[in-house]
Amino acid sequence: MSDKPQLRFAPSPNGRLHLGHALSALVTWAAADHFGGTAHLRIEDIDINRCKPEFTEAIVEDLHWLGLSWPEPVLVQSERFALYAEAADRLRRRDLIYPCFCSRSEIAARAEDKDPDGAPIYPGTCKHLTNAERIIRFERGDPVQFRLDTERAIEETGMLTYTVIGPTLADRPQIRYARPQRWGDVVLQRKDMGTSYHLSVVVDDAAQAITHVTRGRDMEAATDIHVLLQMLLGFSTPIYHFHRLLLGDDGQKLAKSRSSQTLADLRSEGWTAGDVRRAVGF
Ligand code: GLU
Repeated sequence: MSDKPQLRFAPSPNGRLHLGHALSALVTWAAADHFGGTAHLRIEDIDINRCKPEFTEAIVEDLHWLGLSWPEPVLVQSERFALYAEAADRLRRRDLIYPCFCSRSEIAARAEDKDPDGAPIYPGTCKHLTNAERIIRFERGDPVQFRLDTERAIEETGMLTYTVIGPTLADRPQIRYARPQRWGDVVLQRKDMGTSYHLSVVVDDAAQAITHVTRGRDMEAATDIHVLLQMLLGFSTPIYHFHRLLLGDDGQKLAKSRSSQTLADLRSEGWTAGDVRRAVGF
């Protein structure tokens, strides 16, 4: 494998790309240039109910229109469920994940704290089920998800740090402590898909030997979990760069649902790729 820096842009094909994605993609390719590396495209489509092949095609079209290119083949997460299951099994064998049968409403009713995204922290209800109780629930066919035992994981790894470059790519790298405890016992294998964003992203960053992760500031806190999983699975931790987010007129993050802002719509209104670049500050 190349010892040059490897970067990735990893959109989920659950809608058309908008200006926020264009910013994220342009940052990734700019960082690849800056560090003398290669930018890859990765399709993060584990949520097969919401992701659609036509959106993947549209992503490719939009990125090419922006003038970006990447090595083939493109890594597609929906082809890799077995690998994510294998990684989860490695953690299961070390008693680092446990089955959880709780519903969303049960969790909301019992949770006392919120995670950095504002979601209820799992109150630990299923953590102390006995083996016999677990077997009964499995045999009954209750829907199950698997959670990381975050406390136990942290006991194993000790204090973790990672390197951040920013706000600009030219800034001096800084060391930061990861604080996975603020997320509680996150789900690593969801009921509906047998994996999760956290698990898949960590497995694939390692599989693609990603050295520099560029992602929006909205994903900054989630990096705590990724650094913990990388250590548990024996993967190296990339350097991280968190880029600014584009805000809509109302000061909120530009959401995919604001479809008036898709690149395709802008293109049909006569925007050029250069207009998009300028609009997002490139
Ligand atoms: N797939 C994620 C998204 O579309 C980004 C993944 C990452 O940067 O880790 O928001």
